[in-house]
Amino acid sequence: MKEERKGMLLVISGPSGAGKGTIFKKLLANDESLSFSVSVTTRGARDGEVDGVDYFFISNEEYDKLLEEDAFLEHATVHGNRYGTLKSQVQKIMDSGRSVVLDIDPQGAREVVKKWPESVSVFILPPSYAELRKRLYTRNTDDPVEIERRLGNAKGEIDQVHLYKYAVVNDQLEMAYSQVAAIVAAEKQRTTRYFPVVE
Ligand code: 5GP
Repeated sequence: MKEERKGMLLVISGPSGAGKGTIFKKLLANDESLSFSVSVTTRGARDGEVDGVDYFFISNEEYDKLLEEDAFLEHATVHGNRYGTLKSQVQKIMDSGRSVVLDIDPQGAREVVKKWPESVSVFILPPSYAELRKRLYTRNTDDPVEIERRLGNAKGEIDQVHLYKYAVVNDQLEMAYSQVAAIVAAEKQRTTRYFPVVE
């Protein structure tokens, strides 16, 4: 049977510590039709991160220039560093008929949802604030002041869950992942993206 498919723009977001990054990586590893759009950031590369693969690591001046050129689909300052999704990256993937997946913070996600209403947005929620706090402390990547700041932001972000098409609670990772994978599978079959030709 012949069929044609159009790619989708999938946005995975959620408060810091909800587990969106883990779900995002698992999706990419298990679904070959999804591609990662490499973002730009002004933060320095961490050990093991590769320029052009994990991010394009750029200076504040280069970032300002991209802003001026209107090169971003969305952009935001997250925890003191600047991040942006390049329109050119997203376009390149969509033109090849593939789907794009973005792992971005809630400010950026809201911008994409507004600009691109046909995008598929999934908000990952923690099961409780107590669990979110526990995860942020266990992760041990930030100091207590920063953790409390992220927890403070989380409340406002979670209050805006209704702006997203889907919400998934990450209590058990496997369950949350399979719910996101089910959303992706259903969205692929929308007749606006899937064109079967019966001969
Ligand atoms: P990290 O610096 O740990 O890789 O990412 C920090 C945060 O920035 C995460 O919440 C991640 O989702 C978000 N992020 C990464 N790339 C982008 C981007 O292009 N745009 C926005 N808005 N957020 C991003």
